[in-house]
Amino acid sequence: MTPDDAARLLAACAAFDNRQPSEIAKQAWAAALRDLPLDSDTFDAVARFYSAPAQPGESGRRWIEPHHVRTWRTKIRDERLGATIPAYEPPAQPETGSEFTRRRRAQLTAIADGRETAIPVGSLTGGPHPSVARALTTVGRPIPEDDGEQPYMPADFRERVGMEARPPELSVPCPKAGCKAPARQPCKTPHGRRRQQAHQARIDAAGDQQ
Ligand SMILES: [Zn+2]
Repeated sequence: MTPDDAARLLAACAAFDNRQPSEIAKQAWAAALRDLPLDSDTFDAVARFYSAPAQPGESGRRWIEPHHVRTWRTKIRDERLGATIPAYEPPAQPETGSEFTRRRRAQLTAIADGRETAIPVGSLTGGPHPSVARALTTVGRPIPEDDGEQPYMPADFRERVGMEARPPELSVPCPKAGCKAPARQPCKTPHGRRRQQAHQARIDAAGDQQ
């Protein structure tokens, strides 16, 4: 802020503490708060300083100093940011790391200014990466030996997600009428298509065998 800005800010302070305007104070405040703009947050910082409840051990008349303005202004802006992060909106063109950082800073500044609304972290939604989602749909499904339709999945991934190479019920033939799938072959629907799950009778039969 310029010395003239500082004079306006000191006038706002005077409304609370009756300080007298002085050329030296105006110059000193401008120097101390050189990097702060004279905006509504800066004026609010003064009001917040004088409206804050008395702290334990605090006595006497309050007297605002430049560092108070800085601290309260930061607090006001942090409150606006809160426990929030702005949603990531990918730009039309791919960006470099430094471009992202610059854009991110501008976005955070916009939220602190109150020009943009942040989205609470808890309300962010999103599913897993498509490749993971695709792999997860096969978890728990029987994997016959000759299954050419399963998406490729590395063996260690199968282990990590607890998939067995072959469910135990596939070790026995299906006893269900109309299916009678031989051992190691998946159960079939009445239309001859592969069933996602083995018939209950087959699962029971495999259980009996153990
Ligand atoms: Zn069956």
